[in-house]
Amino acid sequence: MNLSEIIRESRRIVFFGGAGVSTESNIPDFRSDNGIYQEKRYRFSPETMLSHSFFSRYPEEFYEFYFDKMIYPDAKPNPAHYALAKLEEQGKLTAVITQNIDGLHQAAGSKNVLELHGSVLRNRCMTCGKQHSLEQMLAQKGTVPRCSCGGILKPEVVLYEEALDQSVMEEAVWHIRHADCMIVGGTSLAVYPAAGLIRYFRGKHLVLINKTATGYDEDATLIIREPIGKVLGEVVNE
Ligand code: ZN
Repeated sequence: MNLSEIIRESRRIVFFGGAGVSTESNIPDFRSDNGIYQEKRYRFSPETMLSHSFFSRYPEEFYEFYFDKMIYPDAKPNPAHYALAKLEEQGKLTAVITQNIDGLHQAAGSKNVLELHGSVLRNRCMTCGKQHSLEQMLAQKGTVPRCSCGGILKPEVVLYEEALDQSVMEEAVWHIRHADCMIVGGTSLAVYPAAGLIRYFRGKHLVLINKTATGYDEDATLIIREPIGKVLGEVVNE
């Protein structure tokens, strides 16, 4: 079966996406060769600078890197985002589970988006708990963003050394368990524990859309090695 046929016969599709979904919106991939992990300009590695302890000890350096490399306020959804929103609107797709933090699925119209690593769009005051938008953060670019109460703001993004949100994980597992089709895109499925979610899938069709091989290729009903925006855009517009 091709992807169109699989989507046509499926009733409960779950999409699981990684950085490759956002690279087509010109947001660099964390781990690819030209991604931000190759960044040499900073004194510390990105893994170090994106850790909880680094944020606590060196908020100035954290925010310099964060605003420089983690925020892409001009990024727009690509055809993959719009195709998934359309499948949800048609009642075929029950959830988008994403490792991305850019909010582009919601910008494209998706409603049920489970963000395993949080979102740059939500920022909380560490003192009073008040929520702040990305715009409020950007207005303080070049400094450590603070709340009107004086407290330091922290993005609701899962940093290294921090646990994933357990309720989001449980909801993701529920949707995967109840899906008849799981489409995995833009991830090599290498990062634990998010990648382990695929083990919960018991449905009929596992579709992998990724430019390189993954550790789950032999379990897949269909493997597609083309850009995900092109693949999903064409199928949904048929
Ligand atoms: Zn506050």
